[in-house]
Amino acid sequence: MKIISSPLELKNYLKNQNASIGFVPTMGALHEGHISLMKRAKEENDILVVSIFLNPTQFLKGEDLDKYPKKDEADKRICELFGVDVLFFPQVSDIYGSDEASVLAPKVRGFVLEGESRPGHFNGVLTVVMKLLNIVNPTRAYFGKKDAQQLNLISLMTKQFFMDVEIVPVDTVREKDGLALSSRNAYLSKQERAEALKIAASLRAASALVSRGILDADEIIKVMRETLAPLEIFYVEVVNRDFEKISVAQIGNTVILAEVKVGTTRLLDNIWL
Ligand code: AMP
Repeated sequence: MKIISSPLELKNYLKNQNASIGFVPTMGALHEGHISLMKRAKEENDILVVSIFLNPTQFLKGEDLDKYPKKDEADKRICELFGVDVLFFPQVSDIYGSDEASVLAPKVRGFVLEGESRPGHFNGVLTVVMKLLNIVNPTRAYFGKKDAQQLNLISLMTKQFFMDVEIVPVDTVREKDGLALSSRNAYLSKQERAEALKIAASLRAASALVSRGILDADEIIKVMRETLAPLEIFYVEVVNRDFEKISVAQIGNTVILAEVKVGTTRLLDNIWL
């Protein structure tokens, strides 16, 4: 496995490979969710590139940038084990200068739900993803459906900027008891982890309603809120694939999402109908 920190060195190295490139961008502290993206990208492409970059611009002031879990050595071993060909491991100064152009998230879709509770977050996400895609120039880039709104905005950006990359959505990987894997799960105490199971339980409750033919969004949201109580809720919402609120869930065109605070940790999850 090659480990490269310089964007130009990586660009030059990849330019000379006459091969399809699968790319998995991450912020490190790798878990089975990241590994499933890596496996999929490995299967579908000749070369697998993974990036580990804790992107400061997507964290708001007072968020967890400084305490975000770092596991550099373990991450490198995981990448090696799962057949990563090139690990891109830049420093902040390799990616950002002092006075820069940046990408702005769409004014509506980028500022609802996660974008409303973290205003500006998606500007940082889209800016770094634009930079990473331009550096790697992948054939396909893989993103988790767990971050559904992020995935939607990245797909939109690559279309709207006429970029030559296929964005591939990958299903959410969960623990056996239903908790969606997340680097932030490392923050949870034993008791908080038990409380966090309410998130998956609320989505199961939503899915049970849907399978009984109850598609009314208010009804679904009410039952989910009851299941989540007494956790602090940032949002529980039923949206279509364009992230517009809808009053009736439509099979094949709906995402049901929840974001809550457990202790001091923000956790999100969703199901796609
Ligand atoms: P992160 O390191 O949190 O920025 O995540 C890197 C990529 O892994 C993103 O595309 C996430 O959506 C994806 N990801 C995170 N958790 C999971 C999971 N439990 N299942 C599938 N993909 C995930």
